[in-house]
Amino acid sequence: MSILDKYITEPKIAYFSMEIGLMDEIPTYSGGLGVLAGDTVKSAADLNLPFVPVTLISRKGYFYQEIDVQGHQIERPAVWDPEKMLKKTSVKVTLMMEGRDVVIQSWVYIVQSPRGSSVPVIYLDTDLPENHPDDRTLTDHLYGGGDDYRLKQEAILGIGGVRMLRKLGFRIKKYHMNEGHAAFLTLELLHKFKKDIEAVWDESQIWDTEAVKDLCVFTTHTPVEAGHDKFSYELYNKVFGDYFPEKILKRLAGDSKINMTLLGFNLSKYVNGVAKKHGEVSQSMFPGYIINAITNGVHSYTWTCDSMKKVFDKYLLGWANEPEIFVRVGAIPDEELWAAHMEAKKKLIYYVNSLSDAGMDPDTLTIGFARRATAYKRADLLFTDIKRLEKIGKGKIQIIYAGKAHPKDTVGKQLIEKIFAYKQELKGKIKIAFIQNYNMEVALKLASGVDIWLNTPLRPLEASGTSGMKAAHNGVMNFSVLDGWWIEGHIEGFTGWSIGPAPTEIRPDNNMNKIDAEDLYHKLGDIIIPLYYNDRKTWVRMMQNAIGKNAYYFNSHRMMRRYVTEAYIR
Ligand SMILES: *Cc1c(COP(=O)(O)O)cnc(C)c1O
Repeated sequence: MSILDKYITEPKIAYFSMEIGLMDEIPTYSGGLGVLAGDTVKSAADLNLPFVPVTLISRKGYFYQEIDVQGHQIERPAVWDPEKMLKKTSVKVTLMMEGRDVVIQSWVYIVQSPRGSSVPVIYLDTDLPENHPDDRTLTDHLYGGGDDYRLKQEAILGIGGVRMLRKLGFRIKKYHMNEGHAAFLTLELLHKFKKDIEAVWDESQIWDTEAVKDLCVFTTHTPVEAGHDKFSYELYNKVFGDYFPEKILKRLAGDSKINMTLLGFNLSKYVNGVAKKHGEVSQSMFPGYIINAITNGVHSYTWTCDSMKKVFDKYLLGWANEPEIFVRVGAIPDEELWAAHMEAKKKLIYYVNSLSDAGMDPDTLTIGFARRATAYKRADLLFTDIKRLEKIGKGKIQIIYAGKAHPKDTVGKQLIEKIFAYKQELKGKIKIAFIQNYNMEVALKLASGVDIWLNTPLRPLEASGTSGMKAAHNGVMNFSVLDGWWIEGHIEGFTGWSIGPAPTEIRPDNNMNKIDAEDLYHKLGDIIIPLYYNDRKTWVRMMQNAIGKNAYYFNSHRMMRRYVTEAYIR
């Protein structure tokens, strides 16, 4: 009897993702992509879909973030114990890299839905005594190392993952690649469908790309060319030897470098972006391909705080597995919705005050800004004109920040330092706190406990964004630049507020900082602050709209139903 027996009886959809964020105790995620993958898996379990996710074990996680008093980020390994969280299987596969066999061990975590259905997640691990010391560390650090390390990790995920599923006894009817990291799986599938014909005048005839395409679905998450993973053929040859002919690979993945996105595109029948706008942006980046769009969502039950859950259970029974029931949000009395919000807010303020000397107050309009610290998110846009911010907000607003910078993202780290400097400069005027080690727990506390969720990305770089959807599930309004999902979710003064012009009106040089900051200050000072303090009834009405319009739509149950009907059963 194996833990997987009951899962291998029917064909599955295999979901490959470099990171999957199910919970903080399994810290194998870095940010939005991983949390989205986790929400995808949870919805698949709730909806009883035939689903088997595959990822790396990332034994040292992404990293644990500490921040010193000046705002310098210190990275510590986020070591966790797979023995405590996962079940080891007896199944191993091997993969030849740099002329030696790398043995891969599989582990399982069962994602159990409260409805009784479940999904087994497969974790791949190379930390085995039989492996070369260098190979043992290959599944340690999520997005660690250089090109060599990353190429090998992607080979373990893609090629190793396909072999592992086969050896575990799974039959797979679709392979869904969540971003380009997994695209090497197509090469392993090409081997499987290799045609047995003798006299060929062109080697490409023996590689049945159509058969592989029929099996594959590819989701891209990156709206900039530089964001797509690329590897040199020199490195590829060093690591892979003659695993797959370079001449054929060049036709599929690009002449000068292996472009993992291109490889995924060329071998998938269905390709999509993660919001309508992102679909269009990707389409213009890759003309000649048909790029669809399925806008992301978040797992409603995971991303609703306890006090809000209680109110939803009372008035919107069944909401967690049928978020469409949010359409009835008007059934919740105003006082009860507000009270649930205040409970979450007090909990957050208590938490922030216990960690910092901010001395925040639950009756002050509270703004939240938490996401990866990286340049395009413009965490410092709010401080463009610090005197003006002080004039508008003194005594009337308080701001809570959180976010990790990738260890190699110097600009991202400087952004955190800047926030610390502004915090100092505004001391005694506007209360600001920075919560270290942004993770899923902090994300829920923040997205449910603030009054306004701020997002200021540089267009069109926010492919989707999902934290604003978490806020909406808790009746927290978004105040955001019109990019990603917010283009679809925004109704001005109804579900929240925009910052800056419509996405069609961005300036060609994309120098939007001044224009966006101007609008931010105008709306904050003239609309949002007065509304919060003087018209609670309209405020609560907008909270209802955030739930009834935004959470109603931007949830991962809706997203998965669309993947099933539009991508998986084609
Ligand atoms: C939801 C989430 C994200 C993604 O947030 P964005 O605003 O979409 O970037 C990143 N990190 C954590 C821990 C999250 O929970």
